[in-house]
Amino acid sequence: MPEKIKGMDKSFVKIKCPDCGTETITYARGSTEVKCSVCNTVLAKPTGGKFEINGQITGEFK
Ligand SMILES: [Zn+2]
Repeated sequence: MPEKIKGMDKSFVKIKCPDCGTETITYARGSTEVKCSVCNTVLAKPTGGKFEINGQITGEFK
């Protein structure tokens, strides 16, 4: 069954930190900021239900 809809609640994204290059895996949607565990740079900011990604998405998976 094809499920290619982006931003589903159960999907995850891998975000590469623009500062230190560490990759962090997080939900594709959420209501809390996602920060880099190494340098504390904000990687994803919730804006009205969607995430504003600050960095490079290097992967998407479920
Ligand atoms: Zn970082």
